[in-house]
Amino acid sequence: MTENGAVVVYLQDVTQEAQVQQIRRQFVVNASHELKTPVTGLMALGEAVRNALPHDVPAAERFSEQLIREAERLSTLTRDLLDLTRVEDPSYLKTESIDLIEVARGELEVLDTLAERRGVKLVTYLGDKVAVRGDRQQLGLLVKNLVDNAIRYSDTGGTVSIEVHAEDEEAIVRVSDTGAGIPLRDQGRVFERFYRVDEGRGRENGGSGLGLSIVKHVTELHSGHVGLTSELGEGSTFTIHLPLLREPA
Ligand code: ADP
Repeated sequence: MTENGAVVVYLQDVTQEAQVQQIRRQFVVNASHELKTPVTGLMALGEAVRNALPHDVPAAERFSEQLIREAERLSTLTRDLLDLTRVEDPSYLKTESIDLIEVARGELEVLDTLAERRGVKLVTYLGDKVAVRGDRQQLGLLVKNLVDNAIRYSDTGGTVSIEVHAEDEEAIVRVSDTGAGIPLRDQGRVFERFYRVDEGRGRENGGSGLGLSIVKHVTELHSGHVGLTSELGEGSTFTIHLPLLREPA
């Protein structure tokens, strides 16, 4: 109550804040659940190695191979969790003029080895300089996650093509594969955190279920949008549209 008897009512709509808190809580629950699976696996496999030794060395070797794969899965998951946390934290964002061709070349150098190991052919269509305003590391993550998926969801003998060019006022990054494809009913959901079309296949491929949510977040943070066309058994095409940076001549 004020001096002249008026009552001041202060109302604050906390609906949005409550929703954000709820999403955060759900994320922690999901992340813990995702971490629990490989950790439980590691414990069981460690024990299996111990029980097999010293009398059954071949079995111990088999278990330790599985143990390494499980540890790799855990490492991918923690790396993707860190990447997602970073891209969601505005204090990490460092914007400057970036050449997307350079970013793509840098990422492809690393992904070449994975493609070779999987027997997948990488084909590139990279134009001249394609400038955007953005964060180099985040745009690198975007390219890396799309190409990494395209390779992992392709069979041996498949082809993955990467195209970066300028079109009208847009920078276009297009990643196509001749792989498994994504059913129509899942196409709208694959960008959600931890969403996998086929739980078994996703995990087996070493995926964390976070890659495409990182792609979507980075794209939107750079005022862009992402498109997906896919045909089951035929392959998928992800297209990123970003505002082109017209630099003074
Ligand atoms: P993951 O780490 O499991 O690959 P993503 O968020 O990157 O997670 O992708 C979500 C899901 O979308 C994957 O589990 C997979 O089922 C599907 N997916 C993503 N990219 C492709 C692709 N190029 N071809 C077929 N399926 C894909």
